[in-house]
Amino acid sequence: MRLLSIFLILILVSCQNHTPSAKTIDMYNAAGDMVGTAKLTEQSEGVKVEIKVENLTPGFHGIHVHEFPKCKAPDFKSAGNHFNPEGKEHGLMHPEGAHLGDMPNVEADESGLVDGEIIIPEATLLDGNKSIVQKGTALIIDEDKDDGVTQPSGNTGARILCGEIKPESEEKAKESPTDPTDTEDQEEED
Ligand SMILES: [Zn+2]
Repeated sequence: MRLLSIFLILILVSCQNHTPSAKTIDMYNAAGDMVGTAKLTEQSEGVKVEIKVENLTPGFHGIHVHEFPKCKAPDFKSAGNHFNPEGKEHGLMHPEGAHLGDMPNVEADESGLVDGEIIIPEATLLDGNKSIVQKGTALIIDEDKDDGVTQPSGNTGARILCGEIKPESEEKAKESPTDPTDTEDQEEED
């Protein structure tokens, strides 16, 4: 009963702060087409990412959280490097790794569909320096698989899909959902 009370208090506190426990983002390709979604859920062991995207080359692809919530097609360089608040090296197999935004590769089936679930162990949707929402980040899928050790980003080739994980404040300020045709000439906000 006591545990339940604590749990309820935690829920209430998180509601008061308007911190999300779940968030779904749209994933776009370099041509500006929406090709799927990623659902992010706050869990005790980290942030769960349920990713469902289509039209990829069959096989393994790198997937990472990047520094900035800006997916400017076609190269998505606007999203910056891998999200790395603790100054580590790249790669889940690197002895001095990994970036907080590093994740295991996803695999597209023969039809090009990725439908999977990954945990980002260190991340949170709540506030703090490990938050992937507080200042905003982006989720990017790469052309090739991440080899887990090569600096700075695993030799993953081009960035092919991108989804903005926007901070809540920015989300509320916008009246309408992002129009992908706008991304080309979207003004810089800071
Ligand atoms: Zn990395």
